[in-house]
Amino acid sequence: MAAAEDFERSSGLAAQAMERMLSERLPPSPENFTLWYVYFSGNNPDLTRAIDLARRDGLTASQTLCEELYKRFFTMDAEAQAIRETSDKARYALGRILEQLGNVGSETERYGNALSGFREELDQPLSLPELRAMIAAIAAETREIVGRQTALQLQLQESSQQLAEMRVSLDSARREALTDGLTGIGNRKAFDLMLQKAMEASARDEQPLSLMMVDIDHFKAFNDTHGHLVGDHVLKLVARMLTECIKGRDTAARYGGEEFAIILPRTSLENAAKLAEQVRTFVGARQIVNKARNANYGTVALSVGVAQFRPGEQAMTLVRRADQALYAAKRGGRNRVAVEAA
Ligand code: GH3
Ligand code: MG
Ligand code: MG
Repeated sequence: MAAAEDFERSSGLAAQAMERMLSERLPPSPENFTLWYVYFSGNNPDLTRAIDLARRDGLTASQTLCEELYKRFFTMDAEAQAIRETSDKARYALGRILEQLGNVGSETERYGNALSGFREELDQPLSLPELRAMIAAIAAETREIVGRQTALQLQLQESSQQLAEMRVSLDSARREALTDGLTGIGNRKAFDLMLQKAMEASARDEQPLSLMMVDIDHFKAFNDTHGHLVGDHVLKLVARMLTECIKGRDTAARYGGEEFAIILPRTSLENAAKLAEQVRTFVGARQIVNKARNANYGTVALSVGVAQFRPGEQAMTLVRRADQALYAAKRGGRNRVAVEAA
């Protein structure tokens, strides 16, 4: 039964994907098919949203847009790609170093053999010209090996320089992979990593840890009224203001869409609630303007949910409690802070 349903559903999705490609005059390539099939399936909400937002802003589903989206959602992320490229390069660099060291080993051995040969000859009585010739030969062998050692040193320096460059490019790929492209603050992946670390530290040091989930109120309406680009500008502005409200060990990240999260190590629920109130008033007071256009778009309000980590619980459980508080703030009328139920 389930197989029949699956068949029905996937045939339906395939037909929808085909129809859309034909009606938008997009080449029915495997990439475009994948993109539209997944779009209609709704299995990737970020992809669905990206396409819907683009359509709403009047961007037609051009081939360029499809290619961009395909790259963003279906190919390896920058980090994975950098890791693969770098490990290939590192393997090559290490191979070269080993080869260089191997050559030195055999040359040193050869040099050693030459020297013992000379010593044996020295045991025989030698004429002056013979001795002179032998000393010249020893000097030549020595010069040669010193020359090779110097070349090796240069080659090793070059290899270690290459390895250092690889580390830098890996670091920057990693940074990129953890950064939200629009706002420049941490993304969801960074949030997950930081929260995990913060939970471990909290349990280890027996210090409180609180979490704030922040959501912009009626942001869909804001976008509808002022356009998606102004909406993007607001997201950047809110991200910057959140960062301004927190101190060193706290982390603000974009949790997704118009929702942000702030991790507050060594902070009790009570203090987190106070900070949440400060964040809400700070952001809510800010006039959104575009000086170049002499436009004022008013303000945006925030709803905030706050919860405190309970040692032993999973990150998901903590996030869910903060989210429930956030929804309580929404239900309570928005533009307010709600603290988790005790
Ligand atoms: P609520 O007060 O209940 O939170 O209402 P809302 O409209 O903010 O919430 P809803 O979840 O209905 O809509 C969220 C909107 O956020 C939809 C989308 O237009 C907007 N949004 C999400 N991500 C982005 C983005 O990257 N840029 C822009 N400009 N808007 C975004
Ligand atoms: Mg919202
Ligand atoms: Mg939301």
